[in-house]
Amino acid sequence: MTAPTPAVRERIDSLSGEELPAYVYDLDALRTHARAVRAALPRQVELYYAAKANPEPEILSALGPYVDGYEVSSGGELTHVAKAAPGRALAFGGPGKTPAEIATALELGVRRFHVESAYELRMLASLTARHAPSERPGVLLRFNLPLPEASLESSSLAMGGHPTPFGLDPTEADTLVGLLTDGTYPQLELLGVHAHLASGLDAPALLALAQSVVTWSLDLAGRHGVRFGEINVGGGMNVDYAHPASRFDWTAYGEGLGELLAPHPDLTLRIEPGRALTAYCGWYATEVLDVKRSHGKEFAVVRGGTHHLRTPATKGHDQPCTVLPASAPWPHPWPRPCAQGAQVTFAGQLCTPKDVLSRDVPAPGLRAGDRAAFALAGAYAWNISHHDFLMHPRPTFHFLGRD
Ligand SMILES: *Cc1c(COP(=O)(O)O)cnc(C)c1O
Repeated sequence: MTAPTPAVRERIDSLSGEELPAYVYDLDALRTHARAVRAALPRQVELYYAAKANPEPEILSALGPYVDGYEVSSGGELTHVAKAAPGRALAFGGPGKTPAEIATALELGVRRFHVESAYELRMLASLTARHAPSERPGVLLRFNLPLPEASLESSSLAMGGHPTPFGLDPTEADTLVGLLTDGTYPQLELLGVHAHLASGLDAPALLALAQSVVTWSLDLAGRHGVRFGEINVGGGMNVDYAHPASRFDWTAYGEGLGELLAPHPDLTLRIEPGRALTAYCGWYATEVLDVKRSHGKEFAVVRGGTHHLRTPATKGHDQPCTVLPASAPWPHPWPRPCAQGAQVTFAGQLCTPKDVLSRDVPAPGLRAGDRAAFALAGAYAWNISHHDFLMHPRPTFHFLGRD
């Protein structure tokens, strides 16, 4: 599952050493995956892509036919996605929105604001009055709600249920719903609730989370005698870097959401996955520069490293790796270093012991000049990395299967 697709393999083989490292994306594989995700979801569920996972314009537009819109979490993402996916629905979330960013969103006609605090609601109301957009902007109040037990245990990163800067405290709920329903802010339309509470959850844990968010939200609406048309239950679908063949069960998740929605035919549920949509379509390919032994362990030093693919360093995992033996003869007059043992740790060119891409990869006979392709590099990879550290050259980028 982690070996490069034939198209990606062919492209990696065709690149010269100087064109490596390279990020190679298979857009056809991305389309196939996104189509399957969409097909697994009931009609009442809207699918937004969280652009922060990978905002490359080619990725955004390949996802276009399968998503209902995009979730943007900064002013930068807002203007970037509005340009790359013109005319598509955007939801503007994220903490610390500035007045200038909100004004830009109003000018761009953004219809959904995920409001993170009481202060932000006041600011949005004031800017809306001043900018007088043609349509009333809609508000989803983002809450930091407790996580159900089942979700808490399996999450890799929890944004909710404990003190964090994200969203509103549940104790503020009645006051804020009051402001949006008692005529204080007639320029804003209360659409419902947003809650992105954890990442790295499997389908049963994420369903338990959705159930608890929906129950809590409908209670809140009921207390105020209003109807919420929309509830956004966030992203966070797991990508298992240690067992890449085990994928998030979209079919079970879709069926579970269908059951959850059955008693509420007028409710739109929205999800906004990032990682689980795009992780699988990208590979970071590079070349082995040196093979050496240190205190009983063998290392391959590759062109590039975690300044291009920071994911294994930040998450503390081994990036799934496929070795691609070089077909060309060794071009140099000096001897070619070669692994003696069966397992090799792949490290990059940075002067820090943290620059490790993958440990103890089975790679008997690995030699300098061989290539390696690191999988699951389509999300939170290049765009979260510290590119300028040590001033090594940037990778090349390849989007295969463009329209
Ligand atoms: C990051 C983020 C997402 C996407 O999370 P994934 O784990 O990539 O699915 C969705 N919504 C919000 C508000 C986020 O911050």
